[in-house]
Amino acid sequence: MKYISTRGLAPETGFAEACLAGLAPDGGLYVPKDWPRIEPARPGEPYAEVAARVLSAFAGDAVPASDMQSICRGAYASFAHQAVAPLTQWGAGTWLMELHHGPTLAFKDVAMQLIAKLYDYLLAKSGDMLTIVCATSGDTGGAAAAAFAGARQSRLVILHPHERVSPVQRLFMTTTGAANILNIATDGDFDDAQSIVKSLFADTGFSRTVNLSGVNSINWARIAAQCVYYATCQAQLRGAPIRFVVPSGNMGDALAGYVAARCGLLTGGFEAVCAVNENDALARLFSAGRMTRTSAVATPSPAMDISVPSNFERLLYEITGRDAGAVRATYAAYAQSGDTALPDGAPTKLSCSGLSAASINNGDTLTEMERFRQETGWLVCPHTAVGTALARRLPARDVATVVLATAAASKFPETVAAATGQDAPLPVRCEALKGQGEVFERVASDLGAVRARVLDFAR
Ligand SMILES: *Cc1c(COP(=O)(O)O)cnc(C)c1O
Repeated sequence: MKYISTRGLAPETGFAEACLAGLAPDGGLYVPKDWPRIEPARPGEPYAEVAARVLSAFAGDAVPASDMQSICRGAYASFAHQAVAPLTQWGAGTWLMELHHGPTLAFKDVAMQLIAKLYDYLLAKSGDMLTIVCATSGDTGGAAAAAFAGARQSRLVILHPHERVSPVQRLFMTTTGAANILNIATDGDFDDAQSIVKSLFADTGFSRTVNLSGVNSINWARIAAQCVYYATCQAQLRGAPIRFVVPSGNMGDALAGYVAARCGLLTGGFEAVCAVNENDALARLFSAGRMTRTSAVATPSPAMDISVPSNFERLLYEITGRDAGAVRATYAAYAQSGDTALPDGAPTKLSCSGLSAASINNGDTLTEMERFRQETGWLVCPHTAVGTALARRLPARDVATVVLATAAASKFPETVAAATGQDAPLPVRCEALKGQGEVFERVASDLGAVRARVLDFAR
């Protein structure tokens, strides 16, 4: 299996290299050179077995099937629900797909648990030690910490904006006790932390010295791992046509649905609506056919406070018929002026892609959390509520509507209390977090200071 870059100027590469690199050297995102055909999941087929088949199809010769099976079994043993991504019905023809049964109660665990095991496997041969650096506004950092704690071939550095992540989110990052994890709290906001990380990646000397790698949502392994629950959902609904509603930020989750469909895993056809909060760049992209830069605003669903949906680049590549020149031109224009039309014909192709997007405002999100509780007795997290609110607005049709529940309510207790007046206590398996001491260091929001600290940690 070979991987190519959406910008067309990077040499084709293998599965391991594509995953470990994250971004391609030409600034593009990796995609498989050809979409593999994958057998749909069978009803009752265990999640880890489906995962092994899907990941093996993307890995090709890079990982023997039996090794991929042990990697996947290990990864999903950490989930508190046997089905990993169970479906629960909440209304007529409407389901939640619960993706929050992993160690840190958000769907990021589904990919991260797998990636950490995959990296240890891929790097064991060479003995290389990676330094993974990520900036987080909340969930990615915790999921990465839980997954990489004690990893043999990588150390992890997490940057979070000091006092701007929720207390529960911070506990997941800072209490692993693992020696291979460094938590840095930067003075500044998430965008500042993110731009420091981007500068570290752009510094090729530094990057080589520490063997730098990333696990953000443009990483191909994350997309591959996230295809799996689309497949198991299709099996649970016995091949019926499904309309997915996907709470979206960087669009990695929704893109995984598109990829699942391209590989034959969605036998009932493909339709997914990206549900975004007041950061509606994605919705405007679909409606206006333009990419327009705005700055992110804070909402009750912080994991979706994203102004540039990075995985859109993969979709653009596909809908232009894999025209890397058109992708390069679009992103060059966007980088320069912050506002550019999609290439000719792209808006029409976009509307035929099966994907669409719509925005839900803050007030409606909080109202939905309470309405959902009254109707079902269940608490949902604010991200999931953006999805269920949107699901209610979709035209009634004879399809199953599946909203991806991307985090547990207990991860956002402050918002849940404000919207519903209810407590959302952490599950018993997470209560231990509170007894553990938090370990993190405050560092100035300054490239030089962070760079020096990471160098020292990687020594
Ligand atoms: C990351 C995240 C999202 C957004 O997912 P993308 O793949 O970036 O679109 C939605 N909800 C929660 C809870 C998340 O952590």
